[in-house]
Amino acid sequence: MERVTVIPEEYQDIQVLCTSNKGKTLYRDYFHFFRLNATAEKILSGREALSRRGRTDFLSVIFFGVDSVSFPNFQRHLPRSRDFLLNNLSAVEFLGLNKVGRGTLENILPVLSGCSFINGRTVFPDDAECQLIWEEFEKKGYRTVISEEQFWFLAYQNLRRNESGTHNATYDNLAHIKGLQSTGPNPIRRFGCFEHQFAIRVLTDRVLQVARKLSGKLYYHHLWSALTSHRILEFAKYLDNPIHELLSNLSVGGLLKNTLLILYSDHGTISSDYSRTPAGLIEARLPFLYVVAPDWFRAKYKTAMSNLQRNAGGLTTPYDIHVTLTDLLNLSSIADDNMAAHDQKPSGSNSRVRERSLFSNIPLDRSCADAGVPEEYCICYSWEELEYQKDLRIVKAVGYALSVMNFKLRKHRKCSKLDLLKILGGRVRRNVTREEGMMIEVTFQTVPGYGILSGTFTVNPKARSGEEFDLVGEIERQNLYRDQSACLEENLKGIGWIRSVCYCGK
Ligand SMILES: [Zn+2]
Repeated sequence: MERVTVIPEEYQDIQVLCTSNKGKTLYRDYFHFFRLNATAEKILSGREALSRRGRTDFLSVIFFGVDSVSFPNFQRHLPRSRDFLLNNLSAVEFLGLNKVGRGTLENILPVLSGCSFINGRTVFPDDAECQLIWEEFEKKGYRTVISEEQFWFLAYQNLRRNESGTHNATYDNLAHIKGLQSTGPNPIRRFGCFEHQFAIRVLTDRVLQVARKLSGKLYYHHLWSALTSHRILEFAKYLDNPIHELLSNLSVGGLLKNTLLILYSDHGTISSDYSRTPAGLIEARLPFLYVVAPDWFRAKYKTAMSNLQRNAGGLTTPYDIHVTLTDLLNLSSIADDNMAAHDQKPSGSNSRVRERSLFSNIPLDRSCADAGVPEEYCICYSWEELEYQKDLRIVKAVGYALSVMNFKLRKHRKCSKLDLLKILGGRVRRNVTREEGMMIEVTFQTVPGYGILSGTFTVNPKARSGEEFDLVGEIERQNLYRDQSACLEENLKGIGWIRSVCYCGK
């Protein structure tokens, strides 16, 4: 039987021109901006996109993720965007979004799939329990769009689903960014630039292009930006103008009338000097989150919206964002009349109670343990700094941390044994309950590699000497490790701990 390929109308007249600052055309892309990958072709054949005209039972969704920007850093460096969000778009601002793992994947996978990131599982198989959210939207009849500024990063590398394409979405910008990165003499990736513009503009432009092109359809647009803000705390300031302009253009163009906009980060900065200060340690755990809903939606889903506003002041997690997105697939479940039933099953069809929709009535006394936030990342703790030159507990804890690390490193023959260079600090948790016991966090530097590491331990003072510490989570690298662990076998590179601690020296 002959296979009929349906070319959707929105695909037909797209062109993107990338020009250098001298006006020379570097890359001309008629075909790939809206790339129809093999999987999408299959999905689209014989199926119409969901039209959104006149509908109040579905919303388009723009999910715009920015790497490594804490809520306090957003406040410091994106004042124009924040002002526009709060005062022009009536955005809901989240004060207590707590990260649930160290880096990007550990936090974005819970958002996208509701599942926890398991070490080493960077490319995961078809797992019915861990469907990516854009696949759910795709099934519902949405057009789905993935946009990134690097072809070696999140969706295109780490969340790859298939051999030929990268993931099961209708459109992506893979060919476009590959084109951008391969044109010109030297694409300057280092400071978050593509040729003559900040990489973030590749994405902010695309939000508008997609919003205009798909304005008559329902779509889910997933974006991830890391180049500008990933490494240097202050570089978040370069996001302010592009994001402010984007928000303003979306608003003026009426492009948010039937669209929910989510602006999100995965964690605060985790690889700078600042992230080792007491304030930086909190910020690393506290990414920003803004939700913008259209006026009619706020009026129609009153209870859900007032819950969202209230929950914004409490403890929330990336898992909650996932359930919230699944609520958008079935808006009737959050209609005022159905909210009582909705709150009865806080985790949707799933029986877990860790995640709660941000539209639901989340208990105010929710703890990190209730919410699935590992103890070592919980922002609700307060700490007392210790005088580390004098405190024997720190010396003992560092000694223990080193022995744990070297024990684990022994299994990987190419990784060097690590020696202590110096102790950098230590602190104990305040206000611990009797059951919780004492908790100590130490920071120290090792050679070779000059890794700055920190580990959190529970302490049992009654235990025998040498057995009183218990490591909570993993020992974490606090400074950049660059290619120090390049000798590791491919299958170990996804494992955060060994990747950040191993120094290839043997
Ligand atoms: Zn990240």
